[in-house]
Amino acid sequence: MISAENFIQDTGKKNIYKLFSALGTVNSIFIPGCAETAAADRAAARIRQIQSLMSLFEPQSEVFKINSRSGEGFIRVGNDTIGLIKKAKRFSQITNGAFDITVGPLSSLWRAAIKRERLPCGDEIDAAAGLCGHNNIHIDGHFIALGKKGSSVDLGGIAKGYAADEVIRILKTGGIREALVNLGGNVAALGGPWTIGIQDPFRKTGHYLGTVELFDETAVTSGSNERYFEKGGRRYHHIIDTRTGYPANTGLASVTAIGDCSADMDALSTAAFVLGAEEGSGLLKKYGAEGVFVLDDRSVYVTQGLRKRFRFARRSGTKERL
Ligand code: ADP
Ligand code: MG
Repeated sequence: MISAENFIQDTGKKNIYKLFSALGTVNSIFIPGCAETAAADRAAARIRQIQSLMSLFEPQSEVFKINSRSGEGFIRVGNDTIGLIKKAKRFSQITNGAFDITVGPLSSLWRAAIKRERLPCGDEIDAAAGLCGHNNIHIDGHFIALGKKGSSVDLGGIAKGYAADEVIRILKTGGIREALVNLGGNVAALGGPWTIGIQDPFRKTGHYLGTVELFDETAVTSGSNERYFEKGGRRYHHIIDTRTGYPANTGLASVTAIGDCSADMDALSTAAFVLGAEEGSGLLKKYGAEGVFVLDDRSVYVTQGLRKRFRFARRSGTKERL
C-alpha cells in the first residue's frame, strides 16, 4: 500500500481533504488551493456508485447478479460493469491467466481460509480452480454469461484502479488541475510533481521504503502484506495464482506499477505479483509502465525508467539492487 498524506505540505491556502470509506478501504481526495467541495463530492459519489455496481457481496450489485446466475444464461449489465469486465478479460488473456478475472471461487475460498487461519483442503482447492478460466465468460453487447455453475468474476484486482481513473476524470471536468487521490493504496496524481511514499511490505503501514515523484500518473501496489496468515514458514495471502490454486509464491513481497492508467496499473501489478520479478518486469515494460519490486529477501528492484525519480528512504536496512 502507498500512502501520500505524510508528504502533503502546508500550502498556506485553503485545501480540500476528503476522507471516506468505500470499496472496502479508506479513500482520500486532496485538492490544494481549493475551497469548493463540489468536484470532490461528485468523485466520492462516483466511487460509491462503482462499489454498488461491482461489489462481490452486495446482492443488488451487477457483479453479484452475474455470479448468482452462473451456468444459467445471459444477464444484461450497464456500461461500467461490461466495460471493466471486458478490460479485465483482456488482461486475463494477455497475461495468460496470471491476472484472472474469474478468480472468484478461489478468492472466496482463500478469503475464508485467511479469516480462519487454516488451509483449505486439496479437494476444495481443486474444485475451485476447476471453475476458473476466462474462456468461461461469454459477452454479447451488454449481455454476459458465466458458462459454469459456481464460477464467478471478481473485480477486486482492478476496480480500485478504475475508480481512481474516474475520480481523476471527474476532478478534471470540474476544472481542477492539481489533486492527489488515494484509494486504499491506489494513488493517482493530477498535475504535480507529487512525492508519494511506497510502503515497505516488511513494516507497518505508513513506513516507506522510498519515495517517487508522480506527474499526471498513478502508482498501484499489490502485496502479500495486506491480508494473510502464516503457516509452516509460508505466507498465505489474497493474490491467487489460478493456475496452481494457491496464493502466488514467486519470491515477491510487493510490486508497485507506475503509469498513466490506474485500472491498467492495478491489473498489471496483480499480474506481475503472480508472475514474479523477472517476468513481471517484462510485462510492465511491454505496457510502458515502470515499477518497484520488493523481493522476499528484502532486496528492491527499481525499473530503469524510474531510477532518476525514486529515492530510498534509508540507505541501510533494505538491501538495494539497482
Ligand atoms: P489490493 O486489493 O490489496 O489492493 P490487488 O490489486 O492485487 O491488491 O488485488 C487483490 C484482489 O484481487 C484480491 O483480493 C482478489 O479479489 C483479486 N485477485 C486475487 N488474485 C487475483 C488474480 N490472480 N487475478 C485477478 N484478481 C485477483
Ligand atoms: Mg490489482
